Amino acid sequence: MDKIVVSSCLAGIKCRYDGTCKKDEYVSSLVEKGIAVPMCPEVLGGLSTPREPSEIVGDKVLTKSGRDVTKNYYDGANMVLDYCKKHNIKKVIFKDKSPSCGKCIYDGTFSGKLINKPGITTALLLENNIKVEVR
Ligand code: SF4
Repeated sequence: MDKIVVSSCLAGIKCRYDGTCKKDEYVSSLVEKGIAVPMCPEVLGGLSTPREPSEIVGDKVLTKSGRDVTKNYYDGANMVLDYCKKHNIKKVIFKDKSPSCGKCIYDGTFSGKLINKPGITTALLLENNIKVEVR
């Protein structure tokens, strides 16, 4: 099986904004077998855990209190893309509803409303013909 990248929080790493994980048994088993490499674009982009929740608002990523974290999100996305290119990775399994990893995301009003739009890292990988599966 070809190597893939997975969201770290699905692999049981407590890197979510609220300091928790969303462990997925299938994804964790792929990591244990050495097939999947866990990565968290938000942590790679320099954000700490826990951190304020963020949403994509227009062409920026803002925390709930209005801090602009757009650069952190793009830095992390580019690091994941560079890793995939360097290691010829063609598929990732990401955590849905995240402003980085989701295929659907919250609408930017911090009101819990989902829209059908990819997060920053997902969009970048899709543009580069990397398959993104979400859980
Ligand atoms: Fe999980 Fe992705 Fe959010 Fe990191 S950025 S906590 S890997 S969903």
